[in-house]
Amino acid sequence: MSSIAALLYLAASVCFIMALKGLSSPVSARRGNLLGMAGMGIAAATTLAMPGVGNYGLILLGIIAGGTAGAVIARKIAMTAMPQLVAAFHSLVGAAAVLIALAALWSPQAYGIGHDSDIHFASLIEMSLGAAIGAITFSGSVVAFAKLQGLLSGKPLRFPAQRMVNLALAVGLLVLLVLFCLTASKPIFLLLVLLAAVAGLLLILPVGGADMPVVISMLNSYSGWAASGIGFTLGNQLLIITGALVGASGAILSYIMCKAMNRSLLNVIFGALKNSGPAAEAEAGEQKPVKAGSPEDAAFILQNASSVIIVPGYGMAVAQAQHAVREVAEELEKEGIRVRYAIHPVAGRMPGHMNVLLAEANVPYDSVFELEEINPEFGTTDVAYVIGANDVTNPAAKNNPQSPIYGMPVLEVAAAKTVIFVKRGMSAGYAGIDNELFYRDNTMMLFGDAKKVTEALVKALKQ
Ligand code: NDP
Repeated sequence: MSSIAALLYLAASVCFIMALKGLSSPVSARRGNLLGMAGMGIAAATTLAMPGVGNYGLILLGIIAGGTAGAVIARKIAMTAMPQLVAAFHSLVGAAAVLIALAALWSPQAYGIGHDSDIHFASLIEMSLGAAIGAITFSGSVVAFAKLQGLLSGKPLRFPAQRMVNLALAVGLLVLLVLFCLTASKPIFLLLVLLAAVAGLLLILPVGGADMPVVISMLNSYSGWAASGIGFTLGNQLLIITGALVGASGAILSYIMCKAMNRSLLNVIFGALKNSGPAAEAEAGEQKPVKAGSPEDAAFILQNASSVIIVPGYGMAVAQAQHAVREVAEELEKEGIRVRYAIHPVAGRMPGHMNVLLAEANVPYDSVFELEEINPEFGTTDVAYVIGANDVTNPAAKNNPQSPIYGMPVLEVAAAKTVIFVKRGMSAGYAGIDNELFYRDNTMMLFGDAKKVTEALVKALKQ
């Protein structure tokens, strides 16, 4: 590689690292995104200008087709459907890794990794690892997509002797990897890819819906490692670096989320998350009395408060109520009431979902607090205004070991003097379980669509 290309690849890598740094806070996220795009622009242009790269017509066609599809999907996709989009995109990264490895095995000369009968040993290791991880990423992401899209049940799918089957698969994969590296046999390679794809399916099927955020970031990590492995086969340093960045950041995010849910990664992957369970479902079916109020009642309670914490959740995202929520906060602040926002790490349907929505509605960053910071504050707060959030406030996570969300830290809204829950009815949230807070004495249910109810609340506050 020429030194100019190496320098440009280095510049692109620096852009990617700075992009990751930027994306770690909503304040710098836009800048991070721009840096990522710039890095990718430099990377693609440098690669295309490399000697030996030809077929520009075909490449251009691919860029136009892929770019148009990506742009249309990105513009059309609802924020709430982002996790399944991410899962679908990860599946493409996995598939690309498998296809590149296949191409390299079938024409090793084209990749400079040897000849048909004599492929470099190191390349065999790289391509088999890249293809195996790629196949796991592909099928696992397809299952994650189907679960998040509601095409498959979000509940953990289990079958007898699952652990034994998984163990046998893991051993089988290892044996095939070794055999392939020793023989470079094409049939063994195909078998390896097939078995890895089955492993991906079986790995994600038992994961319960509430653990999906971790799975998405785990698959993100896998797609990075697959790309990195293929970077070795292609002899492309930038792909190795970028893959490693994606792999490492995805792994770190998975770890952070597991910590946020008080679970270990192995626990999530191997399905320690029990089914919602008959107890939880029976409870959800019970008819218990609740106190329901109107937007005018809520306005009265809020205006008499001196501090309010707003807890947004998935329902706020679906209803696109974030702008109305900001208006409520502004009305309250005019009257000298302190308003803060509490963000649970898995509120909504993707990491950072609520932060993005609140930022879009121009909510000041310094009034938005993470779970650990805000939890001690509920005890001295007059009103918790919970809008479209459910699981992230459910005390069952603390006090019911049978609950599917047991162990996940929750926002302790019940400690506030009054809790107002905005939701359309008594339906459960993502984890499919009832929330005992709805029936407490200090809770008022404000039934209706989050946006309509909050707009009515703004009106009532203005009056
Ligand atoms: P939940 O899914 O627990 O609850 C959302 C609530 O919003 C529902 O109970 C629903 O009740 C209500 N709702 C739905 N639409 C509206 C509407 N238009 N107006 C008013 N209310 C509405 O959301 P949380 O944010 O509390 O919790 C997130 C859950 O999603 C967690 O279990 C998490 O593990 C999971 N998850 C998170 C991901 C992430 O990365 N953040 C990814 C995938 C899953 P009703 O129908 O009665 O209105």
